[in-house]
Amino acid sequence: SEEETKAAGGKLIMVTNAEFPPYEYHEGGEIVGIDADIARAIADELGMELEIEDIAFDSIIPELTSGKADFAMAGMTVDEKRKQSVDFSDTYAKASQRIIVKSDSAIATPDDLKGKVVGVQQGTTGDLYVSDLEADNTTVERYNKGFEAVQALSQGKIDAVVIDGEPAKVFVEQTDGLKILDEAFTDEEYAAAVKKGNTELLDKINGALKNLKESGKLDEIVAKYISA
Ligand code: GLN
Repeated sequence: SEEETKAAGGKLIMVTNAEFPPYEYHEGGEIVGIDADIARAIADELGMELEIEDIAFDSIIPELTSGKADFAMAGMTVDEKRKQSVDFSDTYAKASQRIIVKSDSAIATPDDLKGKVVGVQQGTTGDLYVSDLEADNTTVERYNKGFEAVQALSQGKIDAVVIDGEPAKVFVEQTDGLKILDEAFTDEEYAAAVKKGNTELLDKINGALKNLKESGKLDEIVAKYISA
């Protein structure tokens, strides 16, 4: 049976932070989203069982380096600093950091964030790049969840939020009186991550990703969660 095959193939533990729609979020007691579906499809390709673990975003890399988890899929941006501790797979999505402000805000470009109070999700590339503006008197407020930053903005506690584009769209849709600026703050790409040096698993993931791209399955998963 399929179950027996998977048991024989072993189990993969994938870590994520399921506060990041449409890539990973909770729905009906399950973790769903683009990354969750891609991870399940990768495990299927490899004939392995998959377990998804939901942890804080800034615990993901430590969990990989300690060997507690096999791989991460968390809308994780390929980043030079992270490459010191993990290896990234081939990329599977283009992404960007976007700026959310109140609909009537005077902030219109990334440059306008200088001197303002900006909310980010702790440990993300948004945090990393907005922190560079601290030299220009920008104050960075760090939240555990991206949506908490958006709520603080909505309540007038902060001036802007810098967060990935797709969750930005979801959060702005769920909240009145906010908009996303046209100009992106950064351009990025997402990949899966494994413990540095785990080339055996990395090669398997890249092989599975290649098949999912070629078969159209990857596009199918994305289309399920993001309307073109
Ligand atoms: N893409 C961002 C990063 O890699 C945010 C990811 C996330 O919050 N899940 O830091």
